[in-house]
Amino acid sequence: MPVTPVLTSRWKIPGIWSLETYERHDGYRSVRTALNTSPDDLIKMVKDSGLRGRGGAGFPTGMKWSFIPQGDGKPHYLVINADEGEPGTCKDAPLMMTDPHSLIEGIIVASYAVRANRAFVYLRGELIHAARRLRNATAEAYRAGYLGKDILGSGFDLDLVIHSGAGAYICGEETALLDSLEGRRGQPRLRPPFPATHGLYNSPTVVNNVETIASVPFIVNHGVEWFRSLGTEKSPGPKIYSLSGHVTRPGQYEAPMGTTLRELLDMAGGMRGGRQLKAWTPGGSSTPMLTADHLDVPLDFDSVMAAGSLLGTAALMIMDDTVDIVPVVRRLTQFYAHESCGKCTPCREGTTWLLQILTRMEHGQGDPSDVNTLTDACDNIFGRAFCALADGAVSPIVSGIKHFPEEFAAASTPRPATAAPGGASGNG
Ligand code: NAD
Repeated sequence: MPVTPVLTSRWKIPGIWSLETYERHDGYRSVRTALNTSPDDLIKMVKDSGLRGRGGAGFPTGMKWSFIPQGDGKPHYLVINADEGEPGTCKDAPLMMTDPHSLIEGIIVASYAVRANRAFVYLRGELIHAARRLRNATAEAYRAGYLGKDILGSGFDLDLVIHSGAGAYICGEETALLDSLEGRRGQPRLRPPFPATHGLYNSPTVVNNVETIASVPFIVNHGVEWFRSLGTEKSPGPKIYSLSGHVTRPGQYEAPMGTTLRELLDMAGGMRGGRQLKAWTPGGSSTPMLTADHLDVPLDFDSVMAAGSLLGTAALMIMDDTVDIVPVVRRLTQFYAHESCGKCTPCREGTTWLLQILTRMEHGQGDPSDVNTLTDACDNIFGRAFCALADGAVSPIVSGIKHFPEEFAAASTPRPATAAPGGASGNG
C-alpha cells in the first residue's frame, strides 16, 4: 500500500513549529516561487492540480479562487475555516499544532493568488494550544518578512489575523463563521450569494479549510503532475484520514485519496481486540453510516457518494459488533439538537423532535409507529433547512434505519417494565 506522507511528512521533526526548523526543511520555498509567478498562473496551477476542498464538500479549490472578481476595487479576503467541529474530525488541529508554518505558507500563496491583502484564521474556540502555536508562528513570520508590508521585496502586502471562536459548531458553516468574525451572532446567511462575491464585510472572500490550504505549497513546489499522481483522477492528492473508535491505534493516517477502509485498518493495527466491524462513518457524523460491506470502497469524493454516503472530512468513526446502533444515533442527534442555531424551523424543531422520539426508543418506551415517524420527519427536514447542519443531523438516523432496520424495529416495540431492586417497578 503506497503511503505518501506529504502533509504530515514533517510532523515527527522535533520543533518543526519554530520558523528556524521549518526553514531548514524546505519551509517557505513556495512563497518565493509564488511571488515570482502571476496570480492568474497560480490559480490555473491549483485548478489543474484538481485539488478539492478538504473541509468536507470537496468543491474544486482553483475554481473557487477563480470566482473572485478581479479589478472590482473592493478588498478581497482569505478566511481559513479552522473551526473543525464535525464529530470524529481531528486532522486540522494536529496540523496547526505541529506544523503551523505550513498553513501560514499556504495562506501567503493563496492570498497572493486571489489578491487578498488580509487573511483570517477562524479557529475553533477549544483549540487553545493550536491557537498559541499559530500566533507564535505568525509573529515569527512577520519578523522574518513573510507577512506584513512588501513581502520578500515583492511589493505584496499581507496581514494575518488569528481569531478564536467561542466553540459553536454552527460557526464552522462558512457564512455563520463570517457573521461571527464580523462580531455578530454566528448564524448562516442565505446562499447564493456565495462568499466568493459577497463574503466578509460583503466583499469577495475565499473560505478554505486548513488542510486544503496546507496542500497548496506542495503543489507549487512539486508541480501539478506530481499531485495528480497521488489519489484518483477526480479526487487527486494526499488526504489525512482520522480513525477513531474501535481500532487498535486510533489517529491520523495520511494516504492517497481513494485508499480504502480495509487498507487504513491495516495501517491502524486492525479492529480493537480482533472484533468484527459493524458500522462506520466515512466523513464524520454528518455522513451516512456504512457497514462491513463497504470495506473496499475507495475513499474519494465520488466513490463514497456512489456507495451511498459522503467522504466529508474523512473522519472514520469505527464501531464494532458490541455497539447498539439506536443509542449511537440518539447520542449524535442530541449533538445536532444542541448545536442547532435555531434560525430555521425544520432544524430547530425537527432535531428536538427527533431526539425526543429516539430517547423514548432507547429507554424502552418506543411506539410501533416510531420508525415511520422518524423517516417521515427526516424526509421533511432534509433539504429544507437554511444550511447543511440539518441535512447532517438526519444522516445517522436515515442510514441507521437503512442498515440496521431490525434494531430500530426492536426499539420501537415497547419493552415491559422490569422489576427494580426492592420490588418497585420501573422502565428498564
Ligand atoms: P457546499 O457544497 O454548499 O459549498 C462548498 C464550498 O463551495 C463553499 O465554500 C461554497 O461557498 C462554495 N460554492 C459552492 N457552490 C458555489 C457557487 N455556485 N459559487 C461560488 N462558490 C460556491 O457545502 P457547505 O454547505 O459549505 O459545507 C458542507 C460540508 O461541510 C459537508 O460536506 C460536511 O462534510 C462539511 N462539514 C465539515 C465540518 C468540519 O468540522 N470540517 C463540520 C460540519 C460539516
